[in-house]
Order: sequence, then C-alpha cells, then structure tokens
Amino acid sequence: MFFIGIFGIDHASKEMGTENNVTCPACGAYTHFKLRKDYDYFHIFFIPVFRWNVRELAQAHCCGTLLERDGETWRVLTKRMNTCPSCGKPIDPEAGFKYCPWCSHPLR
Ligand SMILES: [Zn+2]
Ligand SMILES: [Zn+2]
Repeated sequence: MFFIGIFGIDHASKEMGTENNVTCPACGAYTHFKLRKDYDYFHIFFIPVFRWNVRELAQAHCCGTLLERDGETWRVLTKRMNTCPSCGKPIDPEAGFKYCPWCSHPLR
C-alpha cells in the first residue's frame, strides 16, 4: 500500500461465498470451494475509483489448494502442500523429504 497525497493504490479481497459439489482438480476429492475476488484498486479520499487485476480465486476445502478461474474451469495456482507436524511449516510433498527441511523432524 502506498499513497500519493490523497490518492492511493490498494489491494483488496472480497468473499464471494462458496461453490458446493465440486471436484477438486488438485486432489480429486468431492468438496466445496470458498470463493473470493482479489483486485487492485485506485482510490481518492479512500473512495475506490477503478479496479484492475480482478481475479476470481477459490480455496479448496479438501486440501487448501488455491485455484484461479479460467473460463469455465479452475486452474491450480498453488500446489498442495503438506505441513510439518512439528513446526507447521509447508513441505512440498513431491520433493520426497524424509525429514522436515525446516526443523529436521522425521516425516511419516
Ligand atoms: Zn483438494
Ligand atoms: Zn518441521
């Protein structure tokens, strides 16, 4: 966020409800998505004047994958991440770590 006098550019995110009975494109689970709209906007005296970079995003309930709407389908934005049971940091499941790269806690 920055200001040029009374003008400013900011980023906002708006909850758009949920989409039920969908199949997750990342893990294949039958689940629901939490929808939101992300956008940047230009404001004068804190009144939004115009928006751009509008993106429709969804968070899959099953595995937490973030998706972006791409026409009729959803495109996977972030890969599904496991989290370390000890330190809670994200771990890429495809990297095949046997130990947490953050705290060396054994995984599985
Ligand atoms: Zn999923
Ligand atoms: Zn860890």
